[in-house]
Amino acid sequence: MKKFDRILYGGDYNPNQWPREIWAEDMRMFRDAHINSATINVFSWAKLQPSEDEYDFSELDEIVEMLSDENYDIVLGTSTGALPAWMAAKYPEVERTDYDGRHHKFGQRHNACPNSPIFQKYSKRLARKLAQRYGGNPHVKCWHISNEYGGECFCENCEKAFRIWLKEKYGTLEALNQAWNTEFWGHTIYDWNEVVLPNALSEGLWDGKTAFAGISVDYKRFNSDGILANYVAERDAIREYDKETPITTNLMGTYKGLDYFKWAKEMDIISWDNYPSYNTPWSGTAMCHDLMRGLKNAPFMLMEQTPSQQNWQPYNSLKRPGQMRAQSYQTLAHGADTIQFFQLRRSIGGCEKFHGAVIAHAGTENTRVFREVSQLGAELEKLGDTILGSRNEAQVGIVFDWDNYWALEYASGPSVDLSYVNQIHMYYQYFYDRNIAVDMIPFNADFQKYKMVVAPVLYMVKEGMAEELEAFAQNGGTLVTTYMSGIVGQSDNVHLGGYPGPLRKLAGVWVEEIDALAPEQHNEVLMNSGEKYTCSLVCDLMHLEGAQCLGAYGTDFYKGMPAVTRNCYGKGFVYYVGTQMEEAGLCSVLDQAAADAAVESVGPETEGLEVVCRRTQDSKIYFIMNFGDQERRMPSWLCHNRDLLSGEMVSEGTILRKYDTYVIQVRIR
Ligand SMILES: [Zn+2]
Repeated sequence: MKKFDRILYGGDYNPNQWPREIWAEDMRMFRDAHINSATINVFSWAKLQPSEDEYDFSELDEIVEMLSDENYDIVLGTSTGALPAWMAAKYPEVERTDYDGRHHKFGQRHNACPNSPIFQKYSKRLARKLAQRYGGNPHVKCWHISNEYGGECFCENCEKAFRIWLKEKYGTLEALNQAWNTEFWGHTIYDWNEVVLPNALSEGLWDGKTAFAGISVDYKRFNSDGILANYVAERDAIREYDKETPITTNLMGTYKGLDYFKWAKEMDIISWDNYPSYNTPWSGTAMCHDLMRGLKNAPFMLMEQTPSQQNWQPYNSLKRPGQMRAQSYQTLAHGADTIQFFQLRRSIGGCEKFHGAVIAHAGTENTRVFREVSQLGAELEKLGDTILGSRNEAQVGIVFDWDNYWALEYASGPSVDLSYVNQIHMYYQYFYDRNIAVDMIPFNADFQKYKMVVAPVLYMVKEGMAEELEAFAQNGGTLVTTYMSGIVGQSDNVHLGGYPGPLRKLAGVWVEEIDALAPEQHNEVLMNSGEKYTCSLVCDLMHLEGAQCLGAYGTDFYKGMPAVTRNCYGKGFVYYVGTQMEEAGLCSVLDQAAADAAVESVGPETEGLEVVCRRTQDSKIYFIMNFGDQERRMPSWLCHNRDLLSGEMVSEGTILRKYDTYVIQVRIR
């Protein structure tokens, strides 16, 4: 497989939207910005295939030739992320039917029904033709299939495919009825053709909830698998002609619709698009990077970020001076081997005309954004291949699981405020704030690799997982889990015999009831140490079954009942956090858990800074960033090394202002 030999620096480039004289101007300006890569042909299906029997690659030939002459690393799209109009007109089945049952007409993008035989046939054919034509070009360094896969379809083709998927999964209707608990509301299915897709016309309830989470979670799995099959079909078509070039598609962080851990198995390299909002905490962005790295436990590509601003959020603030640079180094720190923008030249029309670009509408290099892109480009060029392929190592694993994401948010009760990503982030943030490296791991990860495993809101405990967690704790690992854990199995039916079901023995507690607190309500947790913290969202009413109470509720009829517990299990420890504690309270619990696990941070004196380490065979590469408003001093243990970006020595006097970033390489032998 081809490998990158430099940090790909560039991004989405659409010269097809511009007259030829602009192309040469682009090449000149991009050279000044040290851009070495372009992602092309992402949305050109209508041009490449103007009608059913006609293909025309002449313009793409010219673009590929120009970029090859300039020695670009080309990321070549397959263009199947948006349908051509003729196809929608001739074969309306290629368009999706939405959750409300409306069959769509031509328009927008990300619009193909994954189970349309016409879409399947022509998308695969296009990918094959592209590979046949460009697969031998040494400048093509990566294939980029479709674009930001996602969405759902509820058409008849999908309904038929769902029935086939279910037959394969369950074998018999008895098994299906049992899995979905269809005795509830008398929904027994007697014939496979009676199965309908769960949307607003069938099982959908208010607020996107569902009458049968078993059906709806299965639909999510089916939809993720179906769209993945589209990816795999194009990938295999490319592989007929190109065995060497890595193939990817751009993912979207914690995007809910697709089970990315399952997708990752079919992808050669992960790539993703990072679009934080103006108020996204830096820890949230870091968590997404760690999740994307965790999908394959390997370096990834940053396929898209904006150099300046976005257009599709409610408030599209500019990146402040230095912010794009710092954000880019955070991305590299957490495992990226590329920095790519959407986009290189700002388009004149369409809904993305206000989306930032390297070259703005003014068409000149005399802009703040262009200067910042150039500075970063020069620095990355200087870094060369230093960081490529280097690894992030972590002693802490946080479980992220799409089945849990879907099932928890489908649950009707106990609270509408249970947001899966927010819950995970609350725990991630503790480690982020202390510069303790974290791997985001799947439910079936090798837990034994870690000193500490954190599994917040582990609502769905699938077959085999409890045993693996028991073995982990038995061997000395520290496990932290919380309210809304161990409740259901893989079909969303409750584990009987008391919460937290299969985790009960491990946690040494029995949760008898779960109270929900409205936003204006709270309780408090009185810790054994005497500290008192407020708590909210949900309160587990639990009984000790071997665990030790660390803190008890302070008010209400369950005053005095345990709220947080710690259980000695084998050589390890299991913490159970029974309510959402205010930040300081959660930190005090996690302090104790982290001490039990003896997890280490990247180093001392890093408070207020983000410091991340990537490891090569013979060195540690530290990324030191300040995202806070306060000035910070360089930690002394990092001083007397050379900053790879400026070439200057850092000393005790080195001060980091907001967005200042240093990269320091320390040899380890
Ligand atoms: Zn469909």
